[in-house]
Amino acid sequence: MEADCMWTTLRKIMAARTPIRFARYVAVIAMLSVGVCLAPARADQVKIHAVGRVVFHDPDQEIHDHPGTMASLNGCRSPNWPIVGLPGAYVQLREEGWPSSPVIAEGWTDQDGNFDLKKLADGSAAVGDVNGKFYVQVRTQDTQPFNRVDVHTFDGVTYKFDSTHRGIHHFDKSSPVQTVHIDVVDFDSADDPVLRCSATVYAHVRKAYGLYNTNTGRPRLPGDNGHVSVTFGWGTNGMWTYWNDIRIERSFDAWDLQSIYHEFGHRVAFTADSPDSTLAFLDDAARFNYARSHDGTEVRNRGYAWAEGWADFNHAVYRPEYRPILKTLPGGSGNGVDNDVENDIARKLLQYAEQCGGGPSGVEAAYKSFVDTLIANPGPELAAAHRTSDKPIHSFEHFAALHQARTSCAFVSSGSASSPIVSGNDRPDPSIASVQGGTVSIVRNVGGHFSRISSTDGQSWTVDAPAALQALDAGSFLSGPAAAVSSNGKSLHVFGRGQDSRIWRAYSADGGNSWQVAWAPIGDGTFTSGPAAAISADGKHLHVFGRGVDNKFWHAYSSDGGNSWQVAWVPIGDGVFTSAPTAAMSADGKKLHVFGRGADNKFWRAYSGDGGATWAVAWSAMGEGSFISAPTAVVAPDGQHLRVFGLGNDSNIWYADSVDGASTWRVEWAQLPAAH
Ligand SMILES: [Zn+2]
Repeated sequence: MEADCMWTTLRKIMAARTPIRFARYVAVIAMLSVGVCLAPARADQVKIHAVGRVVFHDPDQEIHDHPGTMASLNGCRSPNWPIVGLPGAYVQLREEGWPSSPVIAEGWTDQDGNFDLKKLADGSAAVGDVNGKFYVQVRTQDTQPFNRVDVHTFDGVTYKFDSTHRGIHHFDKSSPVQTVHIDVVDFDSADDPVLRCSATVYAHVRKAYGLYNTNTGRPRLPGDNGHVSVTFGWGTNGMWTYWNDIRIERSFDAWDLQSIYHEFGHRVAFTADSPDSTLAFLDDAARFNYARSHDGTEVRNRGYAWAEGWADFNHAVYRPEYRPILKTLPGGSGNGVDNDVENDIARKLLQYAEQCGGGPSGVEAAYKSFVDTLIANPGPELAAAHRTSDKPIHSFEHFAALHQARTSCAFVSSGSASSPIVSGNDRPDPSIASVQGGTVSIVRNVGGHFSRISSTDGQSWTVDAPAALQALDAGSFLSGPAAAVSSNGKSLHVFGRGQDSRIWRAYSADGGNSWQVAWAPIGDGTFTSGPAAAISADGKHLHVFGRGVDNKFWHAYSSDGGNSWQVAWVPIGDGVFTSAPTAAMSADGKKLHVFGRGADNKFWRAYSGDGGATWAVAWSAMGEGSFISAPTAVVAPDGQHLRVFGLGNDSNIWYADSVDGASTWRVEWAQLPAAH
């Protein structure tokens, strides 16, 4: 008995250990084997199964409620966060033992974090000592049904978290299987903040993967058989993605958590670009200098801006609460040839997705189509060929051309050009400047350049694109135009947001036949929306409005028809807005109304009775209407009869009507009859 026991033990050790370490174990075994093997009876081996639940404390709601937050996550620990199950975690049931604890069952947690372990992967039943101590080791490793996601250290070791050890409490000899209640395995109880956060990282990378599956209908990401490798806790120097590998710093905070959805976008695009190897990716990384810090506003080579803009767009698709933030990110744009700006590319992608998807609710459908376009246009394998090929996609312009070829959805640079009321942040396009019985000028943004359609009799129309109006240097406009004309039809002003995000003005003294100013910026303010403009009948009092980077509406004023600016720029009150402004003014230039859409999607109103010197109202909400567009407003020459229009969240056009300068509303929101 003794000899047999010793032999068996040694054989196990010999199989498990290297010869060099063998001698040490033999010495220890020799001492212990006396006690172990002289035991009177062999342990009772019984079939067991273990049940329990793996949980972590999820900051998801907090980052949802505060998108863009850079707050600390306090080592992924807060009593305010809900405790939720950790799905898809790999759980090994182990029996405490020496020199190592054998794995006796394995499996994955379900959607609620529950596990029920009965057997090993080879199908053999879990068997353990009836007097043994059992525990589970939870690993951030999702290999079901394929090697999908794992979160590991820089050395490639998957994070693992041990439960407390439990025995079989109620041994019932009549039962064929004994149950071990592991109970709750709570990552919050891990002392090491990196280990605690490994559950948070794992949950959110898997969540991103699930959104990829849902949005695209594709079970696997491109490249590496769909595997997402996550290297976590390696340092304190930011995050980046290296082909299939997302790298996340040790000091994991709320912004890092949101950035998982950005990095996941890199994971999608890098492997769509270079599905077969890292070689082509490395070529791009060197060519476009991917590895550097950025705040999104820098003018960079367009391959870099494309990669980062796509990733940020991906973030906004997966986390809709980030979309309003993305739409108002600061920064101008590049020329689209040599250079681009990351934030601008992200904004354009979201705008394009809304256009192709038929509105804000169609972003996910457009994302599917966008990913299809990426995957359909991979780059060639070899680095040398890569450099000279037009594939893969390395600019927004290139992407939009390929996507349009696949889907016939064209990118329109300033909202929907066919609609007088556009959703999103920009000015309605076209802009109409009209006088009673005089020339009507309709100014439009066509491919970034302004052109004019005019009529003197309202029946015959002339389309022209005056060279002066066409271009601002070699660039183009980021917004639709705003146009304003004096009552004699002569003093015509056109405004647009230039590539530098400043508002620029063109001026014609003869109703658009010749242009005396084209173009001059108004002050130094930079804007996140297109402009709005209002002019008095005599052409002297000229007001321009735009939404600043703080989302307030800012005001510029000229008392001499734009020759000089007495105000440029001053904010109107403290209101912040999710649309461009619109303005309407009485003929005498005194009664000035300004409107915008607030974060609550209501229209808000400001009013000045003294030509903008002081604001009697700033700001007041207009009823309960909820809108998906910027407002559009018109006022009669008396400044009293006022109408405001907007696209409701039912996609119908609604209007409000006042005959006393908005003191009261005789109609406060009614639907326009359907057009036919
Ligand atoms: Zn990035």
